[in-house]
Amino acid sequence: MRKLRMVRILVAAFFLTAVTLCFLDFTGAAARWFGWTAKLQLMPAALALSVVAAAVVAVTLVFGRVYCSMVCPLGILQDVAVFFRRLFGFKFRPASHDGVAVLVRRIVRLSTAAIFFAGGFLGLHFTWLEPYAIYGRMSAALAAPLVRLGNNRLALWAERQGSDMFCAVEVAMPPLCIAVLSVAMLLLIVALALWRGRLWCNTVCPVGAVLGFVSRFSIFKPAIDPARCVKCRLCEKACKARCIDVAHGTIDRSSCVACFDCGAACGKGALTWSR
Ligand code: SF4
Ligand code: SF4
Ligand code: SF4
Repeated sequence: MRKLRMVRILVAAFFLTAVTLCFLDFTGAAARWFGWTAKLQLMPAALALSVVAAAVVAVTLVFGRVYCSMVCPLGILQDVAVFFRRLFGFKFRPASHDGVAVLVRRIVRLSTAAIFFAGGFLGLHFTWLEPYAIYGRMSAALAAPLVRLGNNRLALWAERQGSDMFCAVEVAMPPLCIAVLSVAMLLLIVALALWRGRLWCNTVCPVGAVLGFVSRFSIFKPAIDPARCVKCRLCEKACKARCIDVAHGTIDRSSCVACFDCGAACGKGALTWSR
C-alpha cells in the first residue's frame, strides 16, 4: 500500500494546487489550464444529472472513496491539518465501534445528507455544506485578496525599479459577513481535522454520505489479514477516518476514505487493498 499512498499524495497535491490556483489567479491563466477541475464538483454535477457524477460513482464502486482522498479540495485540506498533527507526534485515538456510537454517526450523516438533498430539490441550496463551495468561498474571501495585495506591492516595487513585470490589480474585499463566515468555517474544519481526522467528512458532508454508501459495495477495499495481524493497533492510530476495528478485525468501508495510510503504518503486511 505504500506505493498507492504515494500516488494518492501526488494526485491530491496536484488537485489541491490546481483548484486553489483557479480561485487565486487573477490573470486567467490558471482557469485556462485547470478550469476543468470545477466540473468535478459532485453536487452540481449530480443535480444536473451530468456524466461526471456517474463517473465519480462508478470510480467509487471500483476503488472506494478515492474522490475524497485525491480530488476534493476540502478533504485534502483536512489531510494537510492531519499531516501537521502527525508531525508533532499526535496519533488518533481509535473511535468507539459499539452499536450506539456507530448508530449516532450514521443518523447525523444521513440527516445532513437528507436536508441537503431535499433543499436542493426544493431550490434551497445549502452551499455551506457543499465541499467545493466551502473551499472556494474560503479561498476567494480569505486568500485571494491577500494574493492581490501581494501582487500590488510587487507592482509598486517593480515600478520603482523601472520595470513593468507586475501590474497593479483591483483588490475586491469580501463583505464582512462572508469574511467572518469563511474564517469560522476554516477554523471549524481545521479544528475538527486536528481533533478527529475526517470527522467532518463522515458526519456532516452530504457528498461523503453518498460516496460512503456507494463505497460499501466497492470492488477494491481495505481488509485485515487475521493470519498476519498481531493486533498492535498501529493502523487504528494512523487511520484519519477512525474506521478500523482491530479487536473485531473489521473496517467500516463507508467511512474509509481510501488514503492507504493504514497499509503504510502496518509493519506486518497485514493490511491489504484487494477484491
Ligand atoms: S466527504 Fe465531502 S468534504 Fe470530505 S473529502 Fe469527501 S467530498 Fe470532500
Ligand atoms: S498495524 Fe497491522 S499488525 Fe498492527 S493491528 Fe493493524 S493490521 Fe494488525
Ligand atoms: S482504513 Fe483508514 S487509514 Fe486505511 S485507507 Fe481507509 S481511511 Fe485510510
